[in-house]
Amino acid sequence: MKLNMRIQDIRATTVTVPLEAPLRHANGCHWGRFVRTIVEVETDNGIVGLGEMGGGGESAEAVFRAMKSYLVGRDPARLEEMRFLIANPTASLYNNRTQVLAALEFACLDILGQAWGVPVCDILGGRLRDRVPFATYSFFRYPNPRTGRGEVRTVEQVIENIRALKQRFGFTTHKVKAGVFHPDYELEVYRAACAAFPGDSLRFDPNAVWSTEQAIRFGQGIEGLRNDYLEDPVYGLNGMRRTRQMVCVPLATNTVVVNFEQLAANALNPAVDVILLDTTFWGGIRACVKAAAVCETFQLGVAVHSSGELGIQLATMLHLGAVIPNLSFAADAHYHHLTDDIIEGGLLPYENGAIRVPDAPGLGVKLNREKLKEYSELYRRLGGYAYDQDPGRPGWTPIVPNDRWADPKDDRTPPIPY
Ligand SMILES: [Mg+2]
Repeated sequence: MKLNMRIQDIRATTVTVPLEAPLRHANGCHWGRFVRTIVEVETDNGIVGLGEMGGGGESAEAVFRAMKSYLVGRDPARLEEMRFLIANPTASLYNNRTQVLAALEFACLDILGQAWGVPVCDILGGRLRDRVPFATYSFFRYPNPRTGRGEVRTVEQVIENIRALKQRFGFTTHKVKAGVFHPDYELEVYRAACAAFPGDSLRFDPNAVWSTEQAIRFGQGIEGLRNDYLEDPVYGLNGMRRTRQMVCVPLATNTVVVNFEQLAANALNPAVDVILLDTTFWGGIRACVKAAAVCETFQLGVAVHSSGELGIQLATMLHLGAVIPNLSFAADAHYHHLTDDIIEGGLLPYENGAIRVPDAPGLGVKLNREKLKEYSELYRRLGGYAYDQDPGRPGWTPIVPNDRWADPKDDRTPPIPY
């Protein structure tokens, strides 16, 4: 055991890792790959902790380089102090570093686990489960521009895609990500999916692009189905509150309750039933554990949200899922859309719809240096992408509430460089 470690260096490497096919969402598209910044924090005794951050299709290397002047020489165990050092609530008015804090917290927890010889979940209170169950994360997809395969657009394709994922990974909960086409068409899709998997539970997420009245109309249209919840049908706490008054389906959010201020507002005047905790959006695993405790107090539901992870962030989701008692729903992960990973051993495997919580000290995942090099070179070749744009609809700007839907009969394959 080593006490009094000091942070000596922070390194960041941007990678891009291919997806099976481009994933369409309400505000644009994941253009056939994720762009992630991999963070390495090294201590004076040679321990390297790993972190990961998204960045909306762009590199976040520069901000981590800037963090060296804040953190070099600091003790990686002082996580509460680090929160105030780089993301205190008033300084954050000038520089929103919540996601940066999260990536650095992941790395510091990884360091502490390795130094103390325990997995991160043991630092967070100890595991309550060895496996975290996950949901099918079904997206509308463009065909892979290289192979021409993988399109998900029609009702039949959605059901076939869910069936294939269920068969391959063992999922019994299915999330339908939508907000791409007119809500009447998406209601048809969701009803068909519920009918096709009668023993399973389902959830629907249009990414908050509807009007409140549309949300009520859709919500009433799915009452009586085997819904986990309806996720972010509308943007804003009051829109969610109005929807909740009119619809007998639990509402979930990863958009309007993403910090403690909003969590307090939701406890005082409920608008949302299920809080989807994202280790990145909330500023770290520990913030999510604290939020889960508030939810436990107020008897709000909790699930684990996915913001498009590689194996390092997936490990943070697994350690979070392991320690929160009130995890009453399967977690979300984009992970099964990836074709590869930058961690040793490749993609973490699913067993009966669940992933094992790592046992090794720290986060329990290690970088595969060759893969890191391969995918950082791919990033250098391809660069970033416009996360909030749809390559199939150049010039399109989604508004909220949206009425500029894609056409489900449009079967063109947009040219996306790989
Ligand atoms: Mg969502």
